[in-house]
Amino acid sequence: MMFKSTRDSSLRLSASEVITQGISEEGGLFVPESFPKVENLSKWAELDYLSLAKELLALYLTDFSKEEIAGCVDRAYDKSRFGGKEPVSFAYVSEGRDDEKCFLELWHGPTCAFKDMALQLLPQLLTTAIKKSGQNKTALILVSTSGDTGKAALEGFRDVDGVKLISFYPKDGVSKMQWMQMATQAGNNLRVCAVEGNFDDTQTTMKKIFIDSEIKKLAAENNMMFSSANSINFGRLLPQIIYYFYSYFELYNKGRLKSLKEEINFVVPTGNFGNILAGFYAKMMGLPIKKLICASNKNNVLTDFINSGSYDSNREFFLTSSPSMDILVSSNLERLLYHLSAENTEAVKGWMKSLAVEGIYNTDMDTAKRVQQLFYGGFCDEAATLESIDSLFNVEGYLSDTHTAVAASVYKRYLEETGDSSKAVIVSTASPYKFPDSVLEALGQPVPENPFRQMEALEACTATKIPARLKDLENKKIRFEDCVSKPEMADYVKRYIHSWGEED
Ligand SMILES: *Cc1c(COP(=O)(O)O)cnc(C)c1O
Repeated sequence: MMFKSTRDSSLRLSASEVITQGISEEGGLFVPESFPKVENLSKWAELDYLSLAKELLALYLTDFSKEEIAGCVDRAYDKSRFGGKEPVSFAYVSEGRDDEKCFLELWHGPTCAFKDMALQLLPQLLTTAIKKSGQNKTALILVSTSGDTGKAALEGFRDVDGVKLISFYPKDGVSKMQWMQMATQAGNNLRVCAVEGNFDDTQTTMKKIFIDSEIKKLAAENNMMFSSANSINFGRLLPQIIYYFYSYFELYNKGRLKSLKEEINFVVPTGNFGNILAGFYAKMMGLPIKKLICASNKNNVLTDFINSGSYDSNREFFLTSSPSMDILVSSNLERLLYHLSAENTEAVKGWMKSLAVEGIYNTDMDTAKRVQQLFYGGFCDEAATLESIDSLFNVEGYLSDTHTAVAASVYKRYLEETGDSSKAVIVSTASPYKFPDSVLEALGQPVPENPFRQMEALEACTATKIPARLKDLENKKIRFEDCVSKPEMADYVKRYIHSWGEED
C-alpha cells in the first residue's frame, strides 16, 4: 500500500514515511492510494479486539512486519492502560426493546476520552516507523488541542524515547478538568502551553509552523524532525477504523443483526471530522454501513456543509459544554473531499485555498450529492444537550457526557425525521466525569465550585464511580503555566528546539 497527498497525486510514500512525516510538504493530507477490501466478514467477526486490530492495520502498514504490528498493538492496548476485557465497552440502553440503543464507549483509556484509542497506538507506530527509516532523529511533535487530544498525546508520548512534544491549547477553550489533566502532566520530554485565542487560531498557526522552512531548518540542525499527533496524521486515523468493525461484529455476535450484510448506522459526535472519517474508511473497506450521522453542537458548520455542499467558517464561534467539538475548521474533511471528488487534487487545492483566504468554499454538485448519500448532518444547542443528558439518565438510566449527549440528541431527531429503523451504534467519546459541572447542571443538581467536589457530587447522585485517574489529579502539582499569544507560538517552538537540542 502506498500513499498520496490530497493536494499532489504524483507523490508515492510508504506507510512509515507517511506516519513519520505527518503532513505532506505542500500542505495536503496523506491518503491511501486505494481502500483495501475486507471480505468474508464471518471470519473477521470471530476476532478479539487486539487480533482484529492487527489484521486491519496490516492492510495499510504493508512496510511493517507482522511482529512489528503485533508489538505496537499489544503495547498500546495493554490491560494496564485500558482495563477491562477489551479496550472498548458497549452499553445497551432499553435493552431488548424496539428502541434499544447501543453506546460504544471509547473512553476507558488513560485519559478517559476517545483520543486514547488512537493516541496510545500512534507513538508505537511512529517510533517503529522512525526506526525503520534508519534515521537517528528525534521526533518533535507539535499538538494543538481543543482539550482531549493534548492530554491523550501527552500520556501516549510521555517519556517515549526519541520523542519530544509540545502541546498548545486555547487558553479559555478547555474545561477545568482538561486543564488540570494537562497542567499536571508527568514526563521529561514534553511542554504544555496555553495560547490566547480559540482552537482554530491555535491549529491554523501550528500548521504554519509545521511548514515554516526556517523552523524546519533549525530542527534539522538540532537533529530533530517534525511530526504530528493531530488527527491530520494518518497514524491517528488508522486505529479508529478498528472499532467500527469491532462494533459491527459485536452487534452481529449478540444476535442483533440478521446477517453480515445488514447495514447499520453510526452516530458520531464530531469536531475535526477524524472519528467519523474513520467510519467512512470502514465503509469503503466493505463494512455494511448505511448512514454516518454527523452530530455537531452549536458550532454547526458541518451540519450546514452536509446539507448545502457549502462550507462556511465565517460565523460566530461558540464556547459550549462540549468543547472538544468547538471547531469551525474541520481538517479531516479535506480527506473526504478528496475521496468523494474522485481524487481531484486540483479541486481540493482550490477549495482549501478558498477556505484559507475567504473562509468558505463551495463544492461541486456531484461531490455534495455523494456527501449527502453517505452522511446525515445534525446539531443541537446547549439546552438540548443538557436535556439529552437528563433524559438519558432519568428515563433510560444511562449517564452520558456532553459530547455523547449531543450525538444522542441528533440521533433522536434523525429517527423522527427519517423513521429509519436500522440498528445504530452511538459513539460515546468521553467519561461523564470529564465534564462534571455540565452533567450536574443537566441533572438539576447544585454545582460546587471545585471540579473535584463536582465529581464527588456526581458520584453521589448517580451511584456511578469517579475514574481513579481523574480523582487522583487533585493531589498532583501544577507543572506547566506557560501562556503565549498566537504570533509567539513560533518562538516558543524555537526556544525548545534549542534547549532540547543542547541536551543531546
Ligand atoms: C475529539 C473529540 C470529539 C471529536 O472527534 P473528531 O475526531 O475531532 O471529530 C468528540 N468528543 C470528544 C470527547 C472528543 O475528545
